[in-house]
Amino acid sequence: MMVNNNVNLIQAIKDLKKEKNAIILAHYYQESEIQDIADFVGDSLALAQWAAKTDADIIVLCGVHFMGETAKILCPEKRVFVPDLNAGCSLADSCPADEFEKFIKAHPGHTVISYVNTTAAVKTLTDVVVTSTNARQIVDSFPPETKIIFGPDENLGNYINSLTGRNMVLWKGACHVHEQFSLEKILALKKEHPNALVLAHPECKSVILKIADCIGSTSGLLKFAGNSPSKEFIVATESGILHQMQQKNPDKIFIPAPPNDSTCACNECNFMKLNTLQKLYNCLKNETPEIFIPEEIQKKAVKPIRKMLEISEKLGL
Ligand code: SF4
Repeated sequence: MMVNNNVNLIQAIKDLKKEKNAIILAHYYQESEIQDIADFVGDSLALAQWAAKTDADIIVLCGVHFMGETAKILCPEKRVFVPDLNAGCSLADSCPADEFEKFIKAHPGHTVISYVNTTAAVKTLTDVVVTSTNARQIVDSFPPETKIIFGPDENLGNYINSLTGRNMVLWKGACHVHEQFSLEKILALKKEHPNALVLAHPECKSVILKIADCIGSTSGLLKFAGNSPSKEFIVATESGILHQMQQKNPDKIFIPAPPNDSTCACNECNFMKLNTLQKLYNCLKNETPEIFIPEEIQKKAVKPIRKMLEISEKLGL
């Protein structure tokens, strides 16, 4: 059934949510109308923390596939849906589990730390999962002599190595959105807006991180923008975050950093944008598409995610 205007659609989603005791969790990179209807909007760490503690029967994860998997791994007894199952992730795809397993075997005696942007199968090969919010602190929680494999984001791994003085072995994966930011175009924007601060996500290339005034996770950048006395910001991460930045700071100006090979002014994740209000409605109404994870994978994959949540709680993250 098509609900033919947004007002009706929003009301229909609210009604279904109540009727089915469902919760809608949305990532910061979702379309603004999805962020506005969600019960909770956050980054990967916050979404996992919310999924772990909800008493709803149904979780609709408005994000990409691995986020739905993470919620299902944490709550195997709940039904978890992602409005469009084609919402994948180039970073997760850059790390196939069979190749990652060979990589681990080639580096015996290493602790395996994986970014949350991985498949459930990769998580079963992992000792502890991290997100960009807690990666540095979790790496620091291991003694300095610990040999570590870090995957799959090479830019984030290099950044953590530079902060901690470690020499973690890095898997060479990347996110196609964060790889694309153009140094030249950001520098040109800086000329037009000389007082603007550059905010960058650590998945960006090191040339972008070198000129950033703040490097952080989406929630970290959001917090920085709110606390900073500056009024203008150039934002080098997926442009969906600008919705929250602007809502929380209506007196400030947020300019999306442009990608290299496009005439577009901003850089969007095509996977994140596959979810729409209509698909969210359809998903709640028809209870599909659903995330399923084989029990033996769930049982192994939950351990490194729980470990991340425990360390994060101890550290107050
Ligand atoms: S922005 Fe990059 S890392 Fe995030 S979901 Fe999209 S492809 Fe994956």
